[in-house]
Amino acid sequence: MPLVDPFGRQVRDLRISITDRCNFRCTYCMPEEGMVWQPREELLTYEEIERIARICVQRWGFTGIRITGGEPTVRADLPALVEKLAALRPASGAGGRDVDLAMTTNGASLGLLAPALRRAGLRRITVSCDSLRPDRFASITHRNALHRVLDGIDAAVAAGFAPVKVNCVLMRGVNDDEIVDFAAFGRDRGVEVRFIEFMPLDAQGAWTAQTVVTYEEVVRTIDAVFPLEPVDRRGSHPAERLAYRDGGGTVGVIASVTRSFCSSCDRVRLTADGQFRNCLFAVHETDLRAILRGGGSDDDVAAAIEADVGRKWAGHTIGQVTFLRPDRSMSQIGG
Ligand code: SF4
Repeated sequence: MPLVDPFGRQVRDLRISITDRCNFRCTYCMPEEGMVWQPREELLTYEEIERIARICVQRWGFTGIRITGGEPTVRADLPALVEKLAALRPASGAGGRDVDLAMTTNGASLGLLAPALRRAGLRRITVSCDSLRPDRFASITHRNALHRVLDGIDAAVAAGFAPVKVNCVLMRGVNDDEIVDFAAFGRDRGVEVRFIEFMPLDAQGAWTAQTVVTYEEVVRTIDAVFPLEPVDRRGSHPAERLAYRDGGGTVGVIASVTRSFCSSCDRVRLTADGQFRNCLFAVHETDLRAILRGGGSDDDVAAAIEADVGRKWAGHTIGQVTFLRPDRSMSQIGG
């Protein structure tokens, strides 16, 4: 039986944050001094994560799982979790197909980890990189690590991940003068760059609508140098993709703020401390960890998830008076 929300959207994609910790300090995500990390015992174990994911895949035929953080590669023995999740199969009759297992990372450890993650069954990798200039990269992330991230992207391509995607959060006056550089980078390296509109999920609460670089601006800027044409229907994918007319590949824009895609949303989330969220901007959560550690059955977990999805709203209301910032920042929710 598919899991369907009150607006008729089938839920098929589980985003799993496996840690709130990170080895970077991106300005639009967390303060330079970092956050107060959650004690390890409060984080779900790999067995608990696998159990919740298995319920989603086997009962409702989820077809997508994305591992996120914080920074997932800072958690020990990550390939072991990947192996568990890659082995999940929908129960017969649940519909669905093999799980498309993906991960979002800052790329700094991919140089070492990419082959092992590939062998463990990871299918796709998305690397976050917000500047191609070492000095600016350092001022955004508070780390001199651009070279490691670029090596990580190459290592992911060499390990056979395809397509490797590169996410760039654009902030007006910070890195919006690198749009064409990133487009050229993607064309040269054969990776798909996706520009992300800045969202009000930063720990400092500094987000304003004026800092958002819009879809139209991005497309206009690239098209003036590398002519673009639209690509097929996006389905439930967050990114609107365009192709270079000269065959130089594709580029995407995740326009969460100015071109919301909530009407086709198929995603739900699990936080590192076991809270279920039916939306990135949800202001309510369901404590699955308490059910697991309280001796609850798979049926209890499934009932809690169904109830939470049954409360899912039509979509975020960024820019409207009704918009409420979640009391978690991006690093505590996962992308
Ligand atoms: S904001 Fe919420 S409803 Fe909209 S696409 Fe994101 S997760 Fe889905």
